[in-house]
Amino acid sequence: MRKLYLYNTLSKSKEEFNPIKDDQVGLYTCGPTVYNYAHIGNLRSYIFADFLARVLRYNFGQNRLLWVMNITDVDDKTIRDSKIKYPDMDSMPALKKLTSEYEGIFWQDMEKMNILKPNKVTHAADDYYILKMQDLVKKIVEKGYGYVKEGSVYFNVKKYSNNHSYGKLINLDVSNLKLGVSVEADEYEKENVQDFVLWKGRKSDEPFWEFLLNNESLPGRPGWHIECSAMGEAELGMPFDIHTGGIDLKFPHHENEIAQSIIGYNVAEPVNFWIHNDHLLVDGQRMGKRFKNFYTTKDLEEKGFKPLVYRFYCMQTNYGKQMNFTWEGLKASQEGLNHLYNQVKELIEVSDNQRENLGVSDGSFDLINKDFKNEFIESINDDLNMSKALAVLQKTIKSNLSKKEKLNTILDFDKVLGLDIEKEIYNQPISDEINDLIKQREKFRREKNWSESDRLREEIEKLGYGVEDGKDGMRIIKK
Ligand SMILES: [Zn+2]
Repeated sequence: MRKLYLYNTLSKSKEEFNPIKDDQVGLYTCGPTVYNYAHIGNLRSYIFADFLARVLRYNFGQNRLLWVMNITDVDDKTIRDSKIKYPDMDSMPALKKLTSEYEGIFWQDMEKMNILKPNKVTHAADDYYILKMQDLVKKIVEKGYGYVKEGSVYFNVKKYSNNHSYGKLINLDVSNLKLGVSVEADEYEKENVQDFVLWKGRKSDEPFWEFLLNNESLPGRPGWHIECSAMGEAELGMPFDIHTGGIDLKFPHHENEIAQSIIGYNVAEPVNFWIHNDHLLVDGQRMGKRFKNFYTTKDLEEKGFKPLVYRFYCMQTNYGKQMNFTWEGLKASQEGLNHLYNQVKELIEVSDNQRENLGVSDGSFDLINKDFKNEFIESINDDLNMSKALAVLQKTIKSNLSKKEKLNTILDFDKVLGLDIEKEIYNQPISDEINDLIKQREKFRREKNWSESDRLREEIEKLGYGVEDGKDGMRIIKK
């Protein structure tokens, strides 16, 4: 097996990846905060995580990967927006209503981008995980790294940074930290690094859970960072293999996750590989509502693009680099993807006697070309070089292998690429009308009635299909 190299934010270098356990590869992805539609920048993160998950499955076996993704369904933003949207409801049902609506839309988006569902999806507001978070807060306080202040619990960053490296993901300078200055917000800039909140004391109109800490009653809700530490440990144990997220999660979210887990779970490093995808720019600018360039899956669809085209677009730029989105670029990707589908359709051979085989791929393992497969693995295992993998696919199409061998090899590659090639080329339902015309035309051809056969060819072409007659029969291609 070829070695897999991934860029690790911890070491700031490409490293050879080997799983900690023999029987499992553990992957944790910071999932969405479900208070709004996911924009295409968010979706880039999940497309990247899906490529990584597929590459891990391709390398280590389909059943060895345990991919966990959380849903943040309780935090500052979900609570804020649930109050705005459902002002007449009680706070907890309003929160559940808002977050389940947006979570539903999120999974629809995932499916449209052909992102396979993670093995385990964890919800932060689930009572089971709330208890796990409370346990972790207790452990941190017991060890002397957490303290209570006005009903909330904070993490003592100053104390932690005295004997641990705080800020290693972003090379943070912590020399100016003041003791006991705390920040309650989940998100803040690195200039404002302070003691962050582990557990937020109840505010009158907010959803809350009971929490007893050292005989002190502290009703409230979890801070954002504690959610991922507790859910990651609950599902994958400590330490685990890989944690992914967007570049903006490096600080403070992931940095705080590391600090909490090191203290609470008593590990040297909670995660072996931290992998981050870079920002998406739109027309060279940061995306944001105020720039009116905040695009969602719905926007792509309204402009006539299949969301899968965006997945193909994302393959052109390595996940670790900034990617610039333009509508012209998306259009070029659409043309590129359609061209690819047409190239692969050319490889299907439909002989007179084989038409019933339409819809069934051969899938024979021995018909996958080993040389191209090796080249393909070399590309994806070089820190997910998807554009190079696509180049290997093109090389395979243009090679002098048999059509069948090409097709089988390409369908094998698509397990990683996720471009739905098989569905696109086979499952386009050929209508009964076309099927009847094909059958009639075959009959005329057998009878060598060329004028009738030509007439039917024209009819089929009018319905949007190309007809090619070869020595082993007729081939139908959707135009
Ligand atoms: Zn997270």
